[in-house]
Amino acid sequence: MLRHHPWVFSGAIKKIKNEAGREAVPVDGSIVTVVDNKEQFLGMGHYQDGSIAIRILSFENEPLSDDFWVKRLQNAVAYRDQLGLISGEKTNVCRLVHAEGDGLPGLIIDWYNGTAVVQCHSIGMYQQRDQIASAIQQALDGRCTAVYDKSAETLPRKLRETVNNGYLLGDGPGNTEVREYGNTYKVDWVAGQKTGFFIDQRENRELLAGYSKGKSVLNTFCYTGGFSVAALNAGATSVHSVDSSARAIDLTNENVALNFPDGAPHEATAEDTMRFLGKNGTAYDIIILDPPAYAKHQSVKHNAVKGYKRLNATAIEQIKPGGILFTFSCSQVIDRNLFYNTVVAAAIQVGRNIRVMHHLSQPPDHPVNIFHPEGEYLKGLVLMVE
Ligand code: SAH
Repeated sequence: MLRHHPWVFSGAIKKIKNEAGREAVPVDGSIVTVVDNKEQFLGMGHYQDGSIAIRILSFENEPLSDDFWVKRLQNAVAYRDQLGLISGEKTNVCRLVHAEGDGLPGLIIDWYNGTAVVQCHSIGMYQQRDQIASAIQQALDGRCTAVYDKSAETLPRKLRETVNNGYLLGDGPGNTEVREYGNTYKVDWVAGQKTGFFIDQRENRELLAGYSKGKSVLNTFCYTGGFSVAALNAGATSVHSVDSSARAIDLTNENVALNFPDGAPHEATAEDTMRFLGKNGTAYDIIILDPPAYAKHQSVKHNAVKGYKRLNATAIEQIKPGGILFTFSCSQVIDRNLFYNTVVAAAIQVGRNIRVMHHLSQPPDHPVNIFHPEGEYLKGLVLMVE
């Protein structure tokens, strides 16, 4: 607590008392005050039964009023405006609030050109959703037309069945077109995975664009075709998108058509990446590997490492000589060193010479609170394979 880490684990709590000073168990989602042995104030936050018992909202003794929420949101908006991501000429899609990274544990808000999509990961945040929605609108001062709540799949299991997604403010068709570095994407927050778009790969898609001119590109785990559109707009001679989900392939084709109404050198295949790579991997100058998180818990870390090694070894083996591999992991429990070492192990297995060109991470609109290293999750490497 004194180091400003925003979580209090249940094992660190000696006693819980109610306002009358009697021992009591708080209701999930209620706001509690944390004090030290000498009853000195340490912080206040949302209580929830579980290993992380308290998520700290403030290290100051301040009322958690409407004003508190507006100020936190204004701070988050000013930061993104400084990055030019909210209503910029090139980009109008970003993460508006990245939980602990923005001093709001349990709260994710994504911004899609006028619509804010909220995902609450804690019961406390969910209970405050109306206050949050109105703070979003105030902080954006006329730029926000709708706030959509998509918490049904991110809340604790016990609550999920009782919760329905829907608009908290305004209304809309459930999708819109956004701009990212001049590329256009359709985002569907109602039917899409998570809030509809993998915003966290923006800078890495832009980096890929810089290498794509005149190249044949294979984008595996393509989802809505983020990397595919970036490569095509940057002059790739051919792009092949692969995803195991037929729905993702439809979305990718739709996004390519949106950018190239007269057609583009693009093909999309619904297939498992490993199977596709094994058959066709030798045809490409650039390969992108952006799999879903292989490990969501420590308990499956070992299997995840094996999975990343196998996937990377196959791509390293198959890519054209002089080819460039963009490889990612978004598993929080696989840290930067472990991911790097896993890719090294894959390279040793294959035995080709490799230059490490870039170490990649999540972009600044997904900030990591320096006191909460757990907030870092996206890692990537760009490798030139001889
Ligand atoms: N690169 C994407 C995000 C990837 S999300 C972007 O920039 O938007 C991960 C995707 O992997 C999902 O669309 C999921 O359908 C797909 N996927 C999961 N397992 C797969 C597999 N074995 N083979 C191919 N695609 C897979």
